[in-house]
Amino acid sequence: MDNLYRFSFTDLPIRGQWVRLQSTLEAAGQYRAYPAQVSELLGQMLATVAMVADNLKFSGAVAMQSQGNGALRRSLAECRDHTNLRGIMHLTDDSSFPQSSKDGSNHDIGAWLGQGQLALTLIPDEETGMQPYQGLVALEKQDLAKCLEDYFAQSEQLDTRLHFAQNTQEDNLCVTGLLLQRLPNHPDASEADCDAAQDAWETLTTLAATVTNAELGELDVQTLLHRLFHEYPCVLQPPKDLAYQCTCNSERTDTTLMMLGKDDLGALLIEQGEITVDCEFCGHRYRYDAGSVARLMGQIDELAQAPNENPLH
Ligand SMILES: [Zn+2]
Repeated sequence: MDNLYRFSFTDLPIRGQWVRLQSTLEAAGQYRAYPAQVSELLGQMLATVAMVADNLKFSGAVAMQSQGNGALRRSLAECRDHTNLRGIMHLTDDSSFPQSSKDGSNHDIGAWLGQGQLALTLIPDEETGMQPYQGLVALEKQDLAKCLEDYFAQSEQLDTRLHFAQNTQEDNLCVTGLLLQRLPNHPDASEADCDAAQDAWETLTTLAATVTNAELGELDVQTLLHRLFHEYPCVLQPPKDLAYQCTCNSERTDTTLMMLGKDDLGALLIEQGEITVDCEFCGHRYRYDAGSVARLMGQIDELAQAPNENPLH
């Protein structure tokens, strides 16, 4: 089971998050085989949406998506209900994919996307009555962590440091993320308190920057925090479980198929004997035999009649 921890430093306006994804990445790779460095980027994106979702004050989803004309044509990483992750990477051609740097930690995300955009979207559930919010992540730095540090500084006005590590455990890729965030000073804080908080922030971020890929990727969170920050007591919250969980269902698949219209559905059924729809995220196969297609056609007819139910008739 993958999980996420949040922690805060005692008496300091500084918080952090630690997340490690392994089974999630294994599940994501089960239906599509990605080159290693693509899985790593997907892992970093999923770790990011899990951390952002952990801070949401409302129910909903967080999505990070990219679109471009480079080797990475489209990507999506999503965290729903704070715990359910899913993601997909669409590549133009695996073989043309740029190689990552030797330590595996540096992905030139701008080069991968080509002319493109990376966006972070907060999607509140309908019952919250809130509007979705989308922010663009500027791709001015090479790796995703650095781009996101700039994003948090601009969009949330929060000084942030983000580190990712990737390693392989029993042949499975494992991505670990560590985030530190400087919160605003308490309104009643004295000038001395604010200075002390700023000093602590500088020390903590300097210490965090010394973390090696092996330390971040292999140590458990307690050991890591102790090794890096032992002079600063911190409170670790209970872990939150994360899992690869798709949100596809038969109703949504019905709706997608119904949009094809009766003629196309009929033609598909004749051509293929049955209609199958595979979810691109989880590989679940939805099958429609002649009976199911007839049911969909019936629903299309019902919908077509609905607008005609006008009181003048
Ligand atoms: Zn699915």
